[in-house]
Amino acid sequence: MSEKTIVVTGGAGFLGSHLVETLLKQGERVICVDSLVTGKEKNIQEFMENEKFTFMNHDITRPLDISDDLDEIYNLACPASPIDYQMIPIETLMAGSYGVKNMLDLALKHKAKFLQTSTSEVYGDPLEHPQKETYWGNVNPIGLRSCYDESKRFSEALIMAYHRVHDIDIRMSRIFNTFGPRMRPDDGRVIPTFVKQALKDEPITVFGDGDQTRSFCYVDDNIRGQIALMASSYTNPVNIGNPVEMTILQLAEKVIEFCGSKSKIVHNPLPKDDPTRRKPDLTLARQQLGWEPKVNWEDGLKITIDWFKKNT
Ligand code: UDP
Repeated sequence: MSEKTIVVTGGAGFLGSHLVETLLKQGERVICVDSLVTGKEKNIQEFMENEKFTFMNHDITRPLDISDDLDEIYNLACPASPIDYQMIPIETLMAGSYGVKNMLDLALKHKAKFLQTSTSEVYGDPLEHPQKETYWGNVNPIGLRSCYDESKRFSEALIMAYHRVHDIDIRMSRIFNTFGPRMRPDDGRVIPTFVKQALKDEPITVFGDGDQTRSFCYVDDNIRGQIALMASSYTNPVNIGNPVEMTILQLAEKVIEFCGSKSKIVHNPLPKDDPTRRKPDLTLARQQLGWEPKVNWEDGLKITIDWFKKNT
């Protein structure tokens, strides 16, 4: 099979850089598009020598023209941590509206397949548990998280409209909490925050009583899921995550144990609209993609802790 030319927007970010790495290993040609607002050059440094890799410093909210023939576009460009997106809420909404429109227009021009990384946040603070793709969600449209949640919900609507009007070949993954090497230690998300605190024997900041739950997927499983979804012919959204659910307090205790840390747990106020429970139903992913996570989350956590020890 001949190599494909693939655009990865947000390719200098946490997930994007792992996707770029895997696609290059598969022998594909990769054009990484990133504005470096939340992405980091050091995440893609090791690919710069690869002649199949091109980097474009570009913000997707501006139109993009690429002269090469394109086969696939993975759209990952969007701030993804609550701290990041609440700091730049307007940019986040623009990424999900103008940004997605520009990338859809690029896909249309090249007759390329288009994959959007959507989010479990489309389910908001879910009233259905675990969450199936058929659940329409419970989102506060004017809350602090709405700049992200509604941006991603709008993106899904826009992508469906392009599919219906222009017959674009689309894919949408709804990503649940994902972790692994290359997360920014300061991005505010729970795993990098707890690991950073535990490695310094500083207090672990559990928000609220820590009874809220999340289900954490190791990055390699996520990337395998994205690639399986692109290769499938399924055009409706598919959950990509790990179904092992835990409380944030249990997570804090595990991080302390694995870091061999002297940290104590402290409780800080729970942010407004923080979802109470989250766990993916993976029936559809198993049926449509033959995919499910393989990495035990505790093994993934140990790899992540080692990476943070060496890199922060
Ligand atoms: N959280 C916490 N302490 C922190 C950071 C986050 O207790 O220092 C909690 C947060 O309130 C949420 C969960 O951990 O309930 C996951 O937060 P994260 O920001 O990683 O992602 P979310 O799933 O909320 O988008």
